[in-house]
Amino acid sequence: MNAHLFSHPSWVEVNLDQFRKNLSLVKKNQASPLFCLPIKANAYGHGLVPIARTAQDFGIDYLAVAHLQEGMVLRNEGIAIPILVLGAIHENQIADLLEYDLEFSISSLFKAELVAKQCAQMGKQAKVHLEVDTGMQRTGVRPLTAVPLYEYLLQTGHFSVVGIYTHLATGDSPDDPIAKEQIASFRTLLSDPIFEGRPLIRHLANSLGTLHFPEAHFDMVRCSLLAFGYPPKGAPPPFNELAPCFTLKSTVSYFKVVEKGKGVSYGHAYITPKTTRIVTIPIGYGDGYLRALSGKASVLIRGKRYPIVGNICMDQFMCDIGDDEVHVGDEVVLIGKQGGEEIPLSELAEAAGTIPYEILCLLNNRLPRRYT
Ligand SMILES: *Cc1c(COP(=O)(O)O)cnc(C)c1O
Repeated sequence: MNAHLFSHPSWVEVNLDQFRKNLSLVKKNQASPLFCLPIKANAYGHGLVPIARTAQDFGIDYLAVAHLQEGMVLRNEGIAIPILVLGAIHENQIADLLEYDLEFSISSLFKAELVAKQCAQMGKQAKVHLEVDTGMQRTGVRPLTAVPLYEYLLQTGHFSVVGIYTHLATGDSPDDPIAKEQIASFRTLLSDPIFEGRPLIRHLANSLGTLHFPEAHFDMVRCSLLAFGYPPKGAPPPFNELAPCFTLKSTVSYFKVVEKGKGVSYGHAYITPKTTRIVTIPIGYGDGYLRALSGKASVLIRGKRYPIVGNICMDQFMCDIGDDEVHVGDEVVLIGKQGGEEIPLSELAEAAGTIPYEILCLLNNRLPRRYT
């Protein structure tokens, strides 16, 4: 395992000190008592288990994942704090959800009845969060159905209803009308007498919600992108102090001088404008570095930016370094800082026509994660 870690020419570096700084900053500025860190999709590419462990040691109250399988991995690795499985559950997962002491979302009477049956069989209580859809049209019961479903959950005796939550579809600014409407709708629901005096964890805010709607942090925020250090552009203080803890690196694997007028890589999409130096970087779309970035992204070598030229291949791509000097074995930064230069994640996301989340999630397990 370790040999693999250090023999692969491309890798992700995660700075856990910076990650902990980000957690502190969010925690200090949340208006809720509890902090949930969603770490689905390999903790946004940062590495599921090491991030969970760091968060647990830091004192994070809750982790959230999308699927049962992610929760099972965490429990098998000894993560003991509450874990909420956010995605809709499937009938064949219920026994494991109970066995692995995972909290999960209830968003229909149909599933709730299946869970109740399984609980009766296993002699266990399910710890659940009632998921309400206030405007995403994804999973979750409508506010009108939430009260009768809650009544059912209380009445069967098979459930410990730990929380009630909803999720924002928008939230780009503090006066976002759609988000405000969702918040108001959640608040109206919670004012129903049935919820009065119940020890429920009420939660709504993701990163944008945390940033823009402090009045809607309720009992817990569910904040990942901020925790990983990616506040949106123009974020107000103190959130503008958050910094990424993620760097994508590689190593120059080849160097050649190419004459003027030669085509580079598959399809010869790039023709050298003059005799120039071309270096090869051993990472490609097989690692999750999007082919859509061909001819659009840059890398840093020796603190200087160089353009990716020609099409990105499955395992490597080429850069034109002009007349500069670069050696085989030099470190390459594809996301992050080197010297005084930086390639921010947002730059790649824009170049690929996508959002930062997707760039991070796509970087797969062929890339070892190193923690500093
Ligand atoms: C992923 C997720 C979050 C975290 O979103 P960020 O924007 O990264 O903070 C919060 N809530 C739910 C339901 C999620 O799926």
